[in-house]
Amino acid sequence: MRSLLVIEVDGGQHLESAADEARDRWLVENGFQVLRFWNHEVLQNLAGAAGFGWNHLPVMLYNHGELQVCPPGSRTFTNGNGNRVFMNFTSAIDVLRSTPIPIDTWKDIQIGENNGGPYKNNYPKMPVTDDGRDELIDVSSYGLVSSDFYMDQLLNGDRYLEPALADGYLWSRALARRFHTRLLARADAFLRANGLFLFVASAWRHPELQKLITADFATKHGADQARRMFAPAVAGQAPPPHSTGAAFDLEVWSLETGGRLEMYYTEGKRNIYNAYEMEKLALDTRRHSDETFVTSLYNRRILYHVLCTEGIVFKSDSELFSNHPGEFWHFGLGDPLSAYLSREPAARHGAIYPRRGSSGAATGSMHSPTQET
Ligand SMILES: [Zn+2]
Repeated sequence: MRSLLVIEVDGGQHLESAADEARDRWLVENGFQVLRFWNHEVLQNLAGAAGFGWNHLPVMLYNHGELQVCPPGSRTFTNGNGNRVFMNFTSAIDVLRSTPIPIDTWKDIQIGENNGGPYKNNYPKMPVTDDGRDELIDVSSYGLVSSDFYMDQLLNGDRYLEPALADGYLWSRALARRFHTRLLARADAFLRANGLFLFVASAWRHPELQKLITADFATKHGADQARRMFAPAVAGQAPPPHSTGAAFDLEVWSLETGGRLEMYYTEGKRNIYNAYEMEKLALDTRRHSDETFVTSLYNRRILYHVLCTEGIVFKSDSELFSNHPGEFWHFGLGDPLSAYLSREPAARHGAIYPRRGSSGAATGSMHSPTQET
């Protein structure tokens, strides 16, 4: 039997009722979890009493002895007098949506307008303290859904990527360090409990692939734009963030629609990629009637808070990701860029490569029939 939650809303008059007791006993014996609240508790803040994560469950509500089933996500119920009553049943996701991304002034200055700030010249100078013991794994070993953006491009006919495939620089799924993969899996579990999931759109990248895609982007959009969008792979400098297996381009998808939540926003012909710029625009409350704007703003906040706000999924500083505010989708932890933006003295993670023969697949997986034994 599926586990069900029963919430009983009572006034003091039911405190000593033998009928209530018998009913509660029956419910518990039949696998229901019964929680009782006073009327005023429900009306004031059920979320505070109930905690996060229930919003996807149908809730059976006993109200003055009448059984009501509230569909998932419902916000009202009918009280004993036949009136619809607002139930402050706030889900975790609602809280995240309505909480602005905090603007870190130092980061804001570093990134500058259109990623043209001083950070780009400075973070490649970060010292790297990497013990070289980590390994790259396929993020699907922890149940994460991913694709490789560049493999998809190749499959869609972008032939400039053929040398990368021939030279073994392309994988079909995302590769990442094990530590980071486990953290992403925790964020994914939280999102799934709320009807969403994490999609890893891009993770580890071979420096040679980085060079190839930068050159191609420069051909199509100009060298200036390429410099803004891609970290250079230069000998003697800290590696590009994606070549460390500790930096990710992430999206939030819906379990219900199987599609990405909208996070992009364009004003005129300009793409607003900067998370801080969106928050600054949101200060003008007139924009809150613009559904396209609000949708992207809210969805960016969900992704940001799940990964970067302490106490939601991650409990300690060492687990918190750092967002590149100029690219709302880019998150890292311990790579040179994230370390620089977090004002750490050194990057914990340098360049990393898949182990020979691993082909990036999970050990023992049916996807790696040629694995070495
Ligand atoms: Zn990125």
